[in-house]
Amino acid sequence: MHFDPQTGLTIGAAVNMNRVAASADVQEHYPLLAEACRSVASYQLRTRATIVGNICNASPAGDTIGACLVFDGVLQVHGVNGLRQEPLSAFFKGPGKTTLKPGDLVTAIHLPLPPQGCAGKYLKLGRNKLSDLSIVAVTALGYKDSTSSGYRFRLALTSVAPVPLMPVEVETYLANNTITPDAIHAAAQLAYEACTPIDDVRGGARYRKQMVRNLSVKALTEVWKNLG
Ligand SMILES: Cc1cc2nc3c(=O)[nH]c(=O)nc-3n(C[C@H](O)[C@H](O)[C@H](O)COP(=O)(O)OP(=O)(O)OC[C@H]3O[C@@H](n4cnc5c(N)ncnc54)[C@H](O)[C@@H]3O)c2cc1C
Repeated sequence: MHFDPQTGLTIGAAVNMNRVAASADVQEHYPLLAEACRSVASYQLRTRATIVGNICNASPAGDTIGACLVFDGVLQVHGVNGLRQEPLSAFFKGPGKTTLKPGDLVTAIHLPLPPQGCAGKYLKLGRNKLSDLSIVAVTALGYKDSTSSGYRFRLALTSVAPVPLMPVEVETYLANNTITPDAIHAAAQLAYEACTPIDDVRGGARYRKQMVRNLSVKALTEVWKNLG
């Protein structure tokens, strides 16, 4: 794992989640990622589990995927034709399915420098407080920007569609409308409309959609407050 103050953070494929969460550079510049790592299963499991493995597993519930998406992560892939870079936003093709081809190995994920003064929040709803995959999870990142509202908010939703989802409607709405509690509720409604969850052993589709709305309000409000 290497942090470059000019270009950002590179996390190799073999770096386990406990190392990522304990890194001083991650805690200072990407606390949202440390928060997401700490939400995965148990300390014991995180001594084996890697972020690259969490991504390549391509579960729509992967806990560290949302943070890597809102930070605009780029995968470094070693394939039969040499090295290439793949933006994480285009990597997932379905549950367990990615753009990787036979012979491809992801060697690292690179996270560019986060926007200055950004704030983030990861909210995971599980059946237990610890050690379970999410029923719904919401990752929010916000920062001051030259938009009409003066802010940009990025949202990633997991466990609510065949692939981790970034509803651009939310980002666009909050870029173009003055940020108020009502605007945040309207943006959360857009997140509700964008997701297409299924019924499964962890939760029903209808419940998941409602929780997307509730957690989106909570995460966006907290981020907005932290931005001052
Ligand atoms: C008991 C238990 C609890 C769990 N709880 C959670 C949880 O709370 N949250 C959560 O998100 N996940 C959870 N998981 C799932 C899993 O532990 C995580 O997804 C973990 O991050 C996987 O990382 P890994 O390094 O062990 O990958 P592996 O399990 O070794 O690999 C996962 C998949 O990715 C592929 N892969 C791995 N590395 C690469 C690479 N470098 N290049 C190409 N393909 C690669 C493998 O071939 C495999 O198909 C849990 C699993 C268990 C067993």
